[in-house]
Formats: sequence, structure tokens, C-alpha cells
Amino acid sequence: TFISFEGIDGSGKSTQARLLAEALGAELTREPGGSTGAEEIRRLLVAGDAGRWSPETEILLFTAARRDHLEKTIRPALAAGQVIISDRFADSTRVYQGVARATLGQMVDMLHAEMIGIDPDLTFVIDMDPQTALTRGLARDSGEDRFESLGLEFQQKLRAGFRALSVDYPARVQVIDGDRPVEVIAAEVLDRAVAYIIEH
Ligand code: C5P
Repeated sequence: TFISFEGIDGSGKSTQARLLAEALGAELTREPGGSTGAEEIRRLLVAGDAGRWSPETEILLFTAARRDHLEKTIRPALAAGQVIISDRFADSTRVYQGVARATLGQMVDMLHAEMIGIDPDLTFVIDMDPQTALTRGLARDSGEDRFESLGLEFQQKLRAGFRALSVDYPARVQVIDGDRPVEVIAAEVLDRAVAYIIEH
């Protein structure tokens, strides 16, 4: 079973991914990254000035990282019958690169179809108002990450994009209210994940 977590920075998705992996004894991975090669590509993506890569080059780097992650980490885990949980997957590219430049959506879809070809079985969108995430100090600035200095208006668009995933992919994407205590969210996520696993 392949489960992903999506959401804006500061939504708490990484915490929820970790807690679910611990509760299920599942393998935890992340994007961009999740394999040796993809972590190297992550360093290229997050370092340096905002204008270092064009949006087109950025999509190719994300796709290259995802392909390596798929080959080296996700496919082997699925072949071994494991539950694997990823902090972000292809939906992040659909939303971030789609919001950053709408006209690139077709390219994102084409590269996904040709190079990746799979989506998770189940995706949790941890939904959170960006202003709330900011005032709670959840939207940390790791310093590593040039992506995290995006403005509030852009974050609002991202939030809308993540929520809309449940319309585009209703069978797979579940939106979770992230504006609640961590353990309350974790309990709901665990319930839903277990229900899915039992059903399938
Ligand atoms: O979730 P994490 O903080 O590790 O993601 C790293 C950064 O990469 C995020 O801040 C996000 O803004 C950015 N990102 C992106 N496009 C993607 C995936 C992540 O711009 N497809």
C-alpha cells in the first residue's frame, strides 16, 4: 500500500506522515528525495537563488528525482508487500508547479504519464490556513529551503490547489482538517488508513 501526505509548508503533514508510519510500522520516505540519488537532486533544487532554475528545468529535476525515488525506494517496498508512506509525491508537483505557472500543467501531466505512471493508493491532504500556520510558527524557515519564503498570497493559492485534488481524484484524496491538536488529527488519519487497508 502506497500512502502520501500533501499540504502547504507548516500544515503539519510531515509530522502526520511520521506518526502514521510509526503507528503502522510502515516505511517512511519523502520528496523531493527518498533515495540517494533523489536526495542529491533535492540539494540542487533547494539550494541557491530563487532564479537558479527555470520552471521547465525545475519540473525536469523534480521528475528525475521522483523517477529515482520510484525505482530505488517505492517499487521495491511495494514489491515486498510493505506499506510505504511518502511526505509529498506527484501531487506536490501538480499543485506547486501548476500554481507557479498554469501553462506548464500539460507538461507536468505528460512527464508524469511517461516517467512515473503511478499515484498513491491513498493521499491525505492536511488542510491548513497559511496565516494560521504562520502565526503558530509552524511554517518554519529551515534555512535549507529557498521555497519556504513564498508569500502568503501564493500560499493561499497552494492551499486551494491542494484542496482541489480531492475533486480531481475523489477516490484517492482525503482532505483532513489540520487546524486541530496533532494527536486528534493523527487518530483520524490512522482510522482512515486502517479502514482503507482493511477494505483493499
Ligand atoms: O515538504 P518539504 O518542505 O520537504 O518540501 C521542500 C520544498 O519544496 C517545499 O517548501 C515546497 O515549497 C517545494 N516543492 C516545490 N515543488 C514540489 C515539491 C516541493 O516547489 N513539487
